[in-house]
Amino acid sequence: MRIEIDREACISVATCVAVAPHTFELDDEGIAIIKDASGDDAKTILQAAQSCPVNAIRLYDDSGKQIHPPKK
Ligand code: SF4
Repeated sequence: MRIEIDREACISVATCVAVAPHTFELDDEGIAIIKDASGDDAKTILQAAQSCPVNAIRLYDDSGKQIHPPKK
């Protein structure tokens, strides 16, 4: 799974860090960064992405298909 963070969209709520603390952290500017892309299991990382109020976390599977946010 590949993780991308839209740093322009991130509003520093840090729920992603609360849900998946081994994967995400906030940098010096208070914006989320990836600490370890495999720090938590896939289900936890998905929950963290879903917890982001501005959908700043995008997840892709190994074939490059976007898992989150779901494409309409
Ligand atoms: S939950 Fe979303 S807005 Fe909040 S810190 Fe994480 S990426 Fe940023």
